[in-house]
Amino acid sequence: MTLKVLSAASEMVPLVKTGGLADVVGALPRPLAAQGVEMRVFLPGYPAVKAAVKRGKRLHRYEDLFGGRAEILGAEVGETKLFCLDAPHLFDRPGSAYAQPGGADWADNWRRFAAFSRAAADIAGGALASWKPDILHAHDWQAAMAPAYLRYDGNAVPSVLTVHNLAFQGRFDAGIFGALGLPADAMALDGVEYYGGVGFLKAGLQTASAITTVSPTYAQEIRTGAFGMGLDGLVNQRLDVLHGILNGVDTGEWDPAADPALASRYSARALRSRDANRRAVESRFGLERDDGPLACVISRLTWQKGMDLLVARIDEIAAAGVRLAVLGSGDHALEGALLAAAARHRGRVGVVVGYDEQLSHLMQGGCDAILIPSRFEPCGLTQLYGLRYGCVPLVARTGGLADTVIDANEAAIAAGAATGIVFQPDHADALAEAVRRMARLHADRAVWSGLQKAGMRTDVSWDRSAVRYAALYRSLLSKG
Ligand code: ADP
Repeated sequence: MTLKVLSAASEMVPLVKTGGLADVVGALPRPLAAQGVEMRVFLPGYPAVKAAVKRGKRLHRYEDLFGGRAEILGAEVGETKLFCLDAPHLFDRPGSAYAQPGGADWADNWRRFAAFSRAAADIAGGALASWKPDILHAHDWQAAMAPAYLRYDGNAVPSVLTVHNLAFQGRFDAGIFGALGLPADAMALDGVEYYGGVGFLKAGLQTASAITTVSPTYAQEIRTGAFGMGLDGLVNQRLDVLHGILNGVDTGEWDPAADPALASRYSARALRSRDANRRAVESRFGLERDDGPLACVISRLTWQKGMDLLVARIDEIAAAGVRLAVLGSGDHALEGALLAAAARHRGRVGVVVGYDEQLSHLMQGGCDAILIPSRFEPCGLTQLYGLRYGCVPLVARTGGLADTVIDANEAAIAAGAATGIVFQPDHADALAEAVRRMARLHADRAVWSGLQKAGMRTDVSWDRSAVRYAALYRSLLSKG
């Protein structure tokens, strides 16, 4: 029997992306179809989404959804069957998915994503005559109120909440509660109440039938005070329904043998062909050419990603003969510090501040290594792209990074199993030493190409994880 799943999320490639959530939501439907799951995606009607569904069918209408008229539209975008919440008073705005053009979050994000969650719960409740899901799969705090609405509607449709990052919680003042349309008893410890306010992610963790997070190690880490961000108590209460399912990558979008963003396409048998990409990266970042290692960073520039640790040791990295190409945006202080480092180390450190999908592909296809010094990392995708592209990952031992990269210690090298370098998180010395170790390994051509090839053999596809999601959905239905 085909199982119908509504995937409700605030981002999806290629329409709207601020991070890995978008890649995951965009990639999941196809591998799940092979498991007999028909997944349709529900997105807020931001301008880019509206433009993509322009000839969408009107499937449901609200006279008043959180202060304005709204409709649910249905369309196919590429291979994906999509629903969109067309609510101009909430989503027809410039800026990113969550923030104004200047970068500040919209003050009414609670209303925007409560409305989105309300509509997701309505679809699960049968609001669309043509399609009713068996399961509601909500992603992150922006959709996390949907399971809560289902519960207080008395609707038994099972729900899954996937936590892509527990740090983003959707916490708001208690004053918004009255506008959420929930019964008074929902403002309680076992409902949406969170430290005296309202917590969207907390509400979802409390009410979803099952909780998943995006790697087995992160699923363990969030049980602890250090990683639980205040929610570890609740996570521990719900251990019986918590699962860690590793993200995969869209191996069609990310394929070095067919990637149009590369100057030169290649396979593991012809790693020499990476040279043209390397030269393109060197030109783009204003870097000198030499035979030493070229490392890259492709990241949000934030404390979570350990970018301050990188800044602290960037002079040492340059002194070790490693060139560095950094693509990222985020924290203005970190952007400034990186640009200053590029000015100090002209030709050795290059920085592009901004978000550039094409360039990120080229960097994976041309750099020798990708550096990911995160303090915590629910899964991480850039190390998976690195593995697939022969761009050896240097990663902090945390979350999904720990689950996906095998450190190049002597035994692992001898066994042909090593795929990268793993170092202690939140530790600037360990980061600098890892970079020096990378330079030593890089000098041994046979060892280095062994690392690249082992990485490229690693299965980073969605195949295994799609089997696990499908099994989880089926187990929830058989319980109900
Ligand atoms: P997170 O979601 O925490 O930012 P992930 O590693 O899960 O981290 O996903 C990040 C995604 O965003 C990857 O697809 C990565 O390639 C991409 N990315 C991050 N920063 C940039 C950037 N400045 N330009 C292009 N792509 C970027």
